[in-house]
Amino acid sequence: MSWIEIPAGSPFPLGNLPLGIGHSGDDRWRAWVAIGDMALDLAAVEQLRLFGSVGLPDGVFAQAGLNRYLASGRSVWRTVRERLTVLLSDAQYAPSLNDHLHPLTALEMGLPVWVGDYVDFYSSIHHATNLGRLFRPDGEALMPSWRRIPIGYHGRSGSLVPDGTEIVRPTGYRLVDGEPIVGPTAALDIELEVGTVVGTASTLGHPIPIAEAGEHLYGMCLVNDWSARDVQAYEYQPLGPFLGKSFATSMSAWLVSFDALAPFRVPSVSQDPPPAAYLTTSEPWAFDLHLEVWLDSAAMRAAGEPPVCISRTGFADMYWTPAQQLAHLTVNGAAVRPGDLFASGTVSGATPGSEGSLIELTRRGARPLTLPDGTTRSFLLEGDRVTLRGWAGSDPATRIGLGSLSGTVSPGGE
Ligand code: CA
Repeated sequence: MSWIEIPAGSPFPLGNLPLGIGHSGDDRWRAWVAIGDMALDLAAVEQLRLFGSVGLPDGVFAQAGLNRYLASGRSVWRTVRERLTVLLSDAQYAPSLNDHLHPLTALEMGLPVWVGDYVDFYSSIHHATNLGRLFRPDGEALMPSWRRIPIGYHGRSGSLVPDGTEIVRPTGYRLVDGEPIVGPTAALDIELEVGTVVGTASTLGHPIPIAEAGEHLYGMCLVNDWSARDVQAYEYQPLGPFLGKSFATSMSAWLVSFDALAPFRVPSVSQDPPPAAYLTTSEPWAFDLHLEVWLDSAAMRAAGEPPVCISRTGFADMYWTPAQQLAHLTVNGAAVRPGDLFASGTVSGATPGSEGSLIELTRRGARPLTLPDGTTRSFLLEGDRVTLRGWAGSDPATRIGLGSLSGTVSPGGE
């Protein structure tokens, strides 16, 4: 129990303690921990010397990114988590901390880390199969390598944007009646994904053994990997996604640690063929998360209509896990650094209504969605706002939430 009142169903109970970077209107970017509807200023907690002798670098929470904190390693993360649990549950600390608690609604949140490298994986077998069928109707939906290795590509970290950022409709080459033309995308889409953030670095030339993944991986957040499907379809062969994906990727504000998610670890799905030794672990690295996509149009908001849920899906049956993704991405000797991000790939389930993108939900526009304002959607229109939500746990009193992640489509320039 916390001395702070935590509303029922809050994504941020005492068992969560997610970290983020924000400011309280003073432009002093610093680290915060969310608790209920509030957030505690960690730079202030550090100044009050309330972390004790944890071994934190000086001023580690008074920075605009959590990278230095993440670099301090798992034993420090665990000690800080234990210390925060004590500070937020023992009422003797309330008088010292009350002045440093701010309502979440009063904070402007940025990206939780400076992301040096960003990899976009493709690890849902349902999504990869659906997309393969849509993009290559006459070929095999899954490429032969798909079941052997976690397929991914290096993305553009400079286009990562925080929660609430407007998404400008991108321009690119696309085919219209078989003719390539340049213009704004007519197929602006979302991808519901879960991001994994690297804590501690590795050394170039030294792969991370999968058994050590837990030492290197800090935690998870929500990711919306905005996509221009027509641009993507024109450019993706032979080298993969480029401009169809690199114009914007939204990342949620609060990093939820793997320690907070530990009660929701589950064995991953069985893999056929069995993965290579470097991708094999007996540790359960799948996570039983529930994920949702919500949509509202500008007209719905003007009429006071609430957003509608267009997809509900689960994360537990992802084919490749974060540990396998990390082992794979470093097996050639590539190094990771604190704050590196890898996105899971679009999370889609096996059943209708559980797809994590519009191209799947609408069968590439053949079956448009109808919104409460009477309009239909194959892909996103100007003013549309997409909100992702995710959490672990079926009991609203104890669920561990990833929070939410929104973006609104704005018109692009030619
Ligand atoms: Ca993606």
